[in-house]
Amino acid sequence: MVLEGTMRVRVGLPTSERFVAEGRVEYDGGEVSNLRIESEGSKDLWVGYAVFKPSPTGKPFGRFHKERWELVGKFKDLQEAHSLAKAVKGTYRRWVEGWGGVLSVWADGRRIRTSSPFRFRGTVKAQVWVGRGFHWQRVERAVYEGAFYVYAWGREVKVVLELPLEEYVAGVISSELHPEAPLEALKAQAVASRTNLVRTAGKHHPNEPYDICAEDHCQVFRGLHILGERSRRASYSTSGEILLFEGEPIEARYSKSCGGITETFSVVWAEEDRPYSPSFRDWKVEDEHDASSIEGFERFYEVTESFCNVTFHPVENLYRWEEFYTREEMDRLLRDLNVGRVVELNPLRRGRSGRIYELEVVGEKGRVILGGEYNIRQTLGKPFLPSSAFVIKIIGKGFLLKGMGWGHGVGMCQMGAVGMAKEGYDYHRILTHYYKGAVIGHP
Ligand SMILES: [Zn+2]
Ligand SMILES: [Zn+2]
Repeated sequence: MVLEGTMRVRVGLPTSERFVAEGRVEYDGGEVSNLRIESEGSKDLWVGYAVFKPSPTGKPFGRFHKERWELVGKFKDLQEAHSLAKAVKGTYRRWVEGWGGVLSVWADGRRIRTSSPFRFRGTVKAQVWVGRGFHWQRVERAVYEGAFYVYAWGREVKVVLELPLEEYVAGVISSELHPEAPLEALKAQAVASRTNLVRTAGKHHPNEPYDICAEDHCQVFRGLHILGERSRRASYSTSGEILLFEGEPIEARYSKSCGGITETFSVVWAEEDRPYSPSFRDWKVEDEHDASSIEGFERFYEVTESFCNVTFHPVENLYRWEEFYTREEMDRLLRDLNVGRVVELNPLRRGRSGRIYELEVVGEKGRVILGGEYNIRQTLGKPFLPSSAFVIKIIGKGFLLKGMGWGHGVGMCQMGAVGMAKEGYDYHRILTHYYKGAVIGHP
């Protein structure tokens, strides 16, 4: 299929207790400047997981995919879904049933009862929850423009925004990369984010009325209020372009800063490695640095030549960082591991970028192995550690962590893309540096 400029994307905004929007909008009943929408909660919402197996007579997930799947079971419990998916050599997906139902809409204060979806179009300022259920949850005022479809979602409402593909991409890159980043870096981000849209659309929410959600789960889209003119230029000037490997769209992973060496899929997600995302030096020359041993780490810690070692205000680059914990602080953070007072932290396994994916915690009463790059960052985080590429020094009253990079380090290094753009590389060179062997083309 070809991605056309006129193609529209349906984005699922975070669910909320009510949707309050200000701005000129048009709906069936006319034009108003204020809308408040709530669910009457008439249906039982069911949220769980559905397991699918490959089947030539099944249906594809979403409109960008060819593989066909057949439903084999539904579970509330993730572990059960996971084991069945493994047993049938299939996959599992988030699955929601019972959405839809009656809404109460106050249009300029006048109440209307209507069934889902309630449709309107226009440009609105709205309040949305960001990161609900996480410690950083907050209400943000966002600007959205396009066609809106509002659904009752149990006792809450789900707003689906339909907008042109390239507007969506411009919005995504403004959330993912600072809008003041150099144009070529924004263009590289646009191609990577568009590639992920094509791979993801319809896949993660097969039973919900949208292509992709606006949260971390799929790809963050915070609205058009943060959209810079440059983001729009980056999106439209690369219109329709995506990254392909052997003719298929790639999984274009990216993170803030690799720290100088990129990481692989197997280290971060315990998945098979992808040929286009090996571990490599984020620099003009492929030198021999490998930070998977303690000696290699210490040696590489002193290396300053990397594309991501760049000054880019207002974003901190975190190429190198330090974090200090008092003994009490460390005991408190690791209390749930039940090992008593923490005596030692021993990295057992690291990737080439230095990222730890097995960390032994030795306490006075026992020892526990923490697995997974993300889990390690979360467990040791205050609130979140920049990366799991660190060494531990026990100094007097506590533990000093000396670290490199920010995020998982797989695929494109965003600070590195900024660094490359500043040195005059164009977005083609940036993308082919970070996604080895991938070509830029149309699906
Ligand atoms: Zn999602
Ligand atoms: Zn980097």
